[in-house]
Amino acid sequence: MVNVKEHKKEETTEERLDYRLTKKYLNGYLKSKEEILEIAKSEGKDKIYRVLSFGGGTQSSHLLEAHFQNLVKYDYIVFSDTGAEPQFIHEQVAFWQKRQIEMSNKTPFIITTHNSMKNGLEEMLMRYIFTDYQRFQMPLYFNKVTENGEIVPGGLMPRQCTGDFKIVPVQQAVRNRIKEELGLRRSQPMPKNIGIIMDIGFSFDEVNRVGGYVSHQSKYIYLAYPLIEEGLTTRDSIHFLEENNFPSKRSRCYFCPFNCSGDKGKAIGMEWEEIIREEPISFLKACFFDDQLRSVQATGKKNMRSIPYFHSSRTPLREFYQAEFDKLEKMHVEEMESWILHWYAFLNQKYLKAAA
Ligand code: SF4
Repeated sequence: MVNVKEHKKEETTEERLDYRLTKKYLNGYLKSKEEILEIAKSEGKDKIYRVLSFGGGTQSSHLLEAHFQNLVKYDYIVFSDTGAEPQFIHEQVAFWQKRQIEMSNKTPFIITTHNSMKNGLEEMLMRYIFTDYQRFQMPLYFNKVTENGEIVPGGLMPRQCTGDFKIVPVQQAVRNRIKEELGLRRSQPMPKNIGIIMDIGFSFDEVNRVGGYVSHQSKYIYLAYPLIEEGLTTRDSIHFLEENNFPSKRSRCYFCPFNCSGDKGKAIGMEWEEIIREEPISFLKACFFDDQLRSVQATGKKNMRSIPYFHSSRTPLREFYQAEFDKLEKMHVEEMESWILHWYAFLNQKYLKAAA
């Protein structure tokens, strides 16, 4: 049984949270790690690899520190770079790599990316905007155009980016590494006796994000949620990290539509204001994507029927933060121009020339 609860400093009401009472558990989507082990054994898995899917943010850092303190065993630690994390998340990843050395921990720490779009979600967005690529993978807010031409607020587009740019790359990297270890080629099937238990750092307050205890991609990859099992919330992990002077910023892409404004953002530790303050150029890039996506959607050449917005208010980002945008735009003209030129050259080389 994974015991990360030892890290908890205070008794809180959350400590009484019991995963066995959640709908996810009662409906069979969530299992304890002991139950998963039993299931894996009953399915003939006698060699189990244990993996941490590391996001560089708060909850999985909590699990990583538990591993460094020998409270949780992992055979691999894997971080998938979405190509759009703020620099402060890369700095947090570097912090944990350094701490691993200080703690004399030798577990392989793998950094991986999307298989074909190594530059991640920025590449996906640029490709969608400037080539004929049609697969859009982000959960943007949208407005719908009704049959009589009225524009009304819609919901959120499907969220496929986490799966495509985080979950799948992590699973591929682990599969490849294990096959390498076993002397197999990547194309060879995984031996039937191999199972992988992958820890995901969802907290109790995120239990609704649990989609099952078996990976949709590989039946021999089982998904465990130790923080949920221990009844630990996001706040508990942040509290633990802060108390120990560890970095505690929430991981996400700089343009993640789940960035919130004002008190709501502060409450979950993810704010547009933080991006504006810490990474003004990233904020300008987000405004660029926001504007460009609506322009390309308006051409009718894309399969996107609704009008997309990065901000939950369904207002252009540059308008929602008009004063900040006006100031920053003037300050960073050259950086933005060179970023855009870099992408034009990249797209031309990788997609447009190839298609010509
Ligand atoms: S942080 Fe947001 S944008 Fe990035 S992969 Fe996750 S949901 Fe998608």
